[in-house]
Order: sequence, then structure tokens, then C-alpha cells
Amino acid sequence: MAAVRQPGGRGRRSAGRITSVFDRLEALGRDLWWTWNPEAQALFAALDPVLWRATQHNPIRTLRSLSAERHDELAHDPAILAALRRCEAARSEYYAAPGWFARRTAARGRELFVAYFSAEFALHECMPQYSGGLGVLAGDHLKAASDLGVPLVGVGLLYRSGYYRQRLGADGRTIVAYPRYDFHSLPIRDTAREISLDLGARQLRARIWLAQVGRTRLYLLDTDVPANPPALRELTAQLYGGNEETRVRQEILLGMGGVQALHALGLRPTVYHLNEGHAAFCVLQRLRELVRRGAPLAKAQEIVRRSTVFTTHTPVPAGHDRFGARLMKRYFSGVAGELGVSAAELMDLGRERPGDRKEPFCMTVLALRLSGRRNGVAELHGQTTRRMWQSVFNVARAADVPIGHVTNGVHSRTWLAPEMEPLYRRYLKPRWVGAGPEDDCWRRAGRIPPAELWALRNVLRRRLVNFARQRLVEQVQRRMGTLEERLAAEGALDENALTLGFARRFATYKRAPLIFRDVRRLARILCDARRPVQLIFAGKAHPKDEGGQAFAQLIFQHANSDRLRGRVVLLEEYDMEVGRMLVSGCDVWLNTPLRPHEASGTSGMKPPLHGGLNCSILDGWWPEGYNRRNGWVIGGGREWPDREEQDRRDAESLYDLLERRIVPLFYARDRAGVPRGWAQRMIESMRTICGRFSAARMVGEYVKDYYEPAHRDR
Ligand SMILES: *Cc1c(COP(=O)(O)O)cnc(C)c1O
Repeated sequence: MAAVRQPGGRGRRSAGRITSVFDRLEALGRDLWWTWNPEAQALFAALDPVLWRATQHNPIRTLRSLSAERHDELAHDPAILAALRRCEAARSEYYAAPGWFARRTAARGRELFVAYFSAEFALHECMPQYSGGLGVLAGDHLKAASDLGVPLVGVGLLYRSGYYRQRLGADGRTIVAYPRYDFHSLPIRDTAREISLDLGARQLRARIWLAQVGRTRLYLLDTDVPANPPALRELTAQLYGGNEETRVRQEILLGMGGVQALHALGLRPTVYHLNEGHAAFCVLQRLRELVRRGAPLAKAQEIVRRSTVFTTHTPVPAGHDRFGARLMKRYFSGVAGELGVSAAELMDLGRERPGDRKEPFCMTVLALRLSGRRNGVAELHGQTTRRMWQSVFNVARAADVPIGHVTNGVHSRTWLAPEMEPLYRRYLKPRWVGAGPEDDCWRRAGRIPPAELWALRNVLRRRLVNFARQRLVEQVQRRMGTLEERLAAEGALDENALTLGFARRFATYKRAPLIFRDVRRLARILCDARRPVQLIFAGKAHPKDEGGQAFAQLIFQHANSDRLRGRVVLLEEYDMEVGRMLVSGCDVWLNTPLRPHEASGTSGMKPPLHGGLNCSILDGWWPEGYNRRNGWVIGGGREWPDREEQDRRDAESLYDLLERRIVPLFYARDRAGVPRGWAQRMIESMRTICGRFSAARMVGEYVKDYYEPAHRDR
């Protein structure tokens, strides 16, 4: 793919150098390539560190808010100009390097072109268009596709208020806020194109925005346009907000509108990848277009199936959207008519038991029926998913259900702390530009001197402790806390203590408060003056998930209890920035889901980039990652029929591990103060996890086992 041409800053007079430096900075800021380039981030920070922080690291807002003096200074600041030139050169090199995909497919017939649909994309904290792991995975997928040069466009929605902003009240209760983002100050572009689609009896218009993610483009649909009536303008106000009707309308926009947006842009994908069931109406739009062009329905279904890939992401029932017959009729009677089927037949496409008139329409079932290639997101999740949907496929054994798996991965450079880069350059020699999915620089981790890695762990832990204290002070200020609370926040945590992190959505199956089951035993572990241990939590629950919010409140109470104050903290507003700080600063990453509910989990793949160690239930990706020497297993993978029994045993196993293995190993130091055994585990964790659980490996697998076969068969 050719280098992307950047139009200059619109509406600005282009006279002289001042404008040109400014425009060059803005052009750099509008290519989200900078989100995984530490030098570009350092450049934006250097423009004005306070603004950079105040804008959630948004280069466009930072540039626009610069004072007049600073603005003028910039054009003459030799350090800024030199850094800008280096960044531009690095970016040109990135675009010019032939990607792995180009090398792989030189001189093959018509080219593969993938459209990747997702309800959420997490690209950076300045674009809060995500709720958690699903969005992070989608963002990392786009970035890895760019690195590998895979021809792929993303399709999603642009939410005026994003997910929600989380604050905690003085009693620890969640306070939900919906800021309204100005899209023109995000690092995206208005394509000035609109589509118009049927929404039941009405017409819905949506504007198409473009986020440039390196070589990958992401198109986002926004209904907040003047031509829509007020209620429809609000359709894309919130991610996972509103009621069932909002949800069905948003999903029509994503699936059906997404296909129409691709047409409007003149794009002709050969493969459609549905990231979770939210986008499944895509198949109905494609069926309808094929039938309109004269294809018999059976033939149209065959074509759609061959060219559609579907990834399912959760065994939790609430994760699968279901819509009642009345709602479906309201929005799909026209489509049924066009396809030449009855409303009931259309409903059956989304039913596990066709003909069961009580069964609602399930988006996952629709996607399973109309995609030819389907997968779960870890080996264990593949098994769980085959059992779960056996009825859809009418086969005798779960093993015969045609659902495979591609284990998730993370975009390494997005999650890598810049402090690590010199060590990487010296010992691992990563090839960030032009690498393929099999390139695994972490295989060389054995070359890293343990003392050097340990020194960096101390740097990163200290950075995290400072970050957490600053956030805690701000939290106390916002709540108008007492002076005593403020002092506690300033003095919370210990930069040398063994630090455990837990940060993810506070969905109840993830059991965030499990470690508090026996508070006295936990307090003994944490408050040992010679071998202190501390816990840092962050996480958001869905605004309607009362159970998840109660978890946040419970952890808040423990963090503010006399017994655990200063050793347990809870940070508000878990986002990609908090995530990066935690996965780089924590020594141990804690993961306590109720097996087998964690489809994959990806947060645990990020600490090993910095020598962090996982302590996890054998669920999701961990059965594939764990090798006895690179982390720990809680509970040995047993599933107990009784929930109470399960929680009790898992908590006990966790305490035992901490008391007998983890804490002693961390504090067993040699004469130079280095924990030798711990350092060995850190290196083993890095060596065995980072390459295998990278997004490059993951996207490579999708290309070889899903996209290319679908492209050939279509
Ligand atoms: C990596 C990441 C996740 C994924 O968390 P899991 O529960 O492990 O799947 C969620 N949110 C953010 C912000 C992340 O960075």
C-alpha cells in the first residue's frame, strides 16, 4: 500500500515556517502511528507537558491549546525541529518497509482485502471509544495489521460520549459521567461523506470519520448530524448505553451501515471479519444486496458464508445480544420481504432452535450460521464455545462443532514502557519495522543480565507508585476529602514493596474481590514489615451492572480501612494509560476469573514485556502460556460444582501461593540485592510469553488460517 498522503491543516494560512512546523506536527498527530512510537509521544509531550497531560495525551488538542508565545517558539526550537525530523523519517521508513504480507503474497491473483467490524476500538486514551478487553483487542489488531502490511480496514461507530467516565463517591459508589467529545479535536478526520440507511420505516443518516492507524484505516460512523431528528442524533451517544431498542439500532448501523459505508467509500472487501456478534447484521445487508442483484437466496447465503469470518469472545450469557420478535419485526420486515422469506423465517436465522417462537433472535447465532469460519479466542475457549453452541450445528459431539480458535495477542509496542527500550535494543535487538509474525526477539531474553532487568523493574515500580499517588491525591481532592485522607494518599504504597496489580472491567465473573475473602490472612501477608506486599486495583463496571459496582465499592472500602490503608489502593477511571502504567510497574499480575468464563483475557500478556509475572487461575490464555517456571497457577484448574466452595478453595490457593512461594522468592536477595530466583522467572516469562501472545502472531494466524482461505473460497 502506498504511503498515505496527509492533507495540510485545513483553514490555516500557509505562509512561512511557523505554519509549516505546526502543520507537520498536526499531520504526525493525525496518524495514530504515534500511539506506538515513543519518540513521537515524547515530541508531543515536549510541546507542553502540562497540556499534554491535561488533554489525555491528545496531540491535536495540545497543538491547538498552545499559548501564542509557545506556538511561535516552536518553529525555532532546534530540539523540537530535530525531533520532528527524526519522527518524520521514522514514519517514512515505516511506510516504505515492505510488510510481511507483501513479501508473502508477491505475485498472487486478486488481492485479499479484509473489512474488520467491531463495536469498540481502543487505540489510545485520548479516544475513549472502548469499554475493555474487546476494544483493546480490536485496536491492537488494527495496529498489528498495519505493522504486517495486511490490507485491512476497520469499521466501527464513533460515540459522542464514549463509554462513560468513572468516578467514585465518598462511599465508594460509582458515579457515571458522560462528557461530550468534540470530534474535531480528536486525532481523526472528517471524510465529509454520509450514508443513509433504512431504520425500520425511517431513514438514518450517518457521517463517516477516518482514523488513520498507520497503514490501516478505521472508518467510524456518527449519527450526530443535522439531517437526523434529535432522537436519532443521539443513537451513537454512548457505547453499550440505552435500552434494547438503542442496541438493535446501533447494531443495524454498525453491521448494515458499515457495509454501506464501505460502498460509499468505493471499497470492495473480499473478506468480512465480525469481531463479536454486535456486527452480525452485516451478513443480512450483504444477503440483501446479493438478492437485489438477482442471486437466489441459497446462493447468496453460500457467498456470504464463504467470505465471512466470525470471532466470538465470551461464554458469559449477557455478552450475547438477544432481541425479541416484536423489535425484530419493526426493523427487519422490509429486509425479510426483500429476501423473500417470512418474518418467522428471518427470526429462525438467529435461533438455536428454529421454529421455537418463544426464542429471541441471537446475534451470535446469526453470525455462527452465516459465517463459514468461526473461532474462539483461546484453546480452552474454543472447547467451551463448541459445547455452548452444539445445538446450532446439529452434530452428535461437541468436538465436531466447526469452531476453531485463535488465541489473542497484544500489540507489543503499544504496551511497552519507553524505559525498556534501551535494554531491548541492547539485548533483544527487536526489529519493529518490517517484522513478521514469527519474529520473536524475546527468544533472546536469556541474554539479559538479571541485575539489569531487576534495576529496570525498580524504576518502573517507582514510576507506578508515583503515578498512583498523584492519582489518589486527585481523587481525594475531587471528593473533597479530609486532610488526613490527602496525607494518606500522598504516602500510600511503598516503592520497594512487592506490587500486585489487578486491572480489568469489573465484570462479576472476574471476581476482583476474591483476595479479600479472608481479610486477616491477607493483612498478615501485606503488612509484614520486613516483606511488605501491596495491591493496586483499577476497573470499571458497566453502568447497569450493580454486582460489578458493588465490587468496586467493596475494594474501595478495604482500601480505606484502617487495616489495609496504604497497602491497597483503587484507582478511578481505568483506561489505556492506567493500564500501561500498571502492566509495566507491577511485579505480579493477578487474575482470578471463575473458570471457564474468561474467554482469553489479554491484560496478563502485557506485564511479561517488562518482566512481570502472572499469578492466575488456569483460564483463558493461561493454560497455553503457563510452563511452571514463568508464573503461578491458582487452584490447579479444578472446577467445583458449588460456587462457594470454588471461591473458598481458589482464595486459599492464592494465599498459600503468596505465603509460600511468591513473597519468599521476591525477597530472597543476593549480596547485591538482586532476587536471583525471581529474576530467572522474569526472564522466563519474557522469553516464553511475549512473542507467542503478540498481536503480530495473532494477526498472522488470522491471515493464514482464516482470511486467505476465505479469500480463496469466495
Ligand atoms: C488489556 C486491557 C484489558 C483486557 O483485560 P482482560 O480482563 O485481561 O481481558 C482491558 N482494559 C484495558 C484498558 C486494557 O488495557
